[in-house]
Amino acid sequence: MEKKSLEGIKILIVEDDPASRLYLNKILEKTGAVLFNAGDGSEAVLSAMDNPDISLILMDIQLPLLNGYLAATKIKESGHTGKIIAQTAYSLADDLEKIRSSDFDDYIIKPIYPDQLINKLSEILKKNS
Ligand SMILES: [Mg+2]
Repeated sequence: MEKKSLEGIKILIVEDDPASRLYLNKILEKTGAVLFNAGDGSEAVLSAMDNPDISLILMDIQLPLLNGYLAATKIKESGHTGKIIAQTAYSLADDLEKIRSSDFDDYIIKPIYPDQLINKLSEILKKNS
């Protein structure tokens, strides 16, 4: 497992469900990544704007105030260069199509497994380095 690949990388976790947010933090803190958290879409946009050096944004779709699609669009519109990865429980073709045609750079389907998540994020970073 490539744990070192995320060391020092700034990651914003956007998740309104506290248990899921804790779970993602526990997985990613082991990698040495620098973690930021947001509990709704508006907070995600503000956190991204305050921290332009965040490399990866792990975004839930169903969020209070601003959903994941709208938050991703606002973050991209602000000129932020971080990669935005949708995390969704929906694996229906329609939803994946919607994600592909949105401002997300990639997606991961829940339930999220530790190795799968770390590998996915490492791959996305490599692609853009
Ligand atoms: Mg949610």
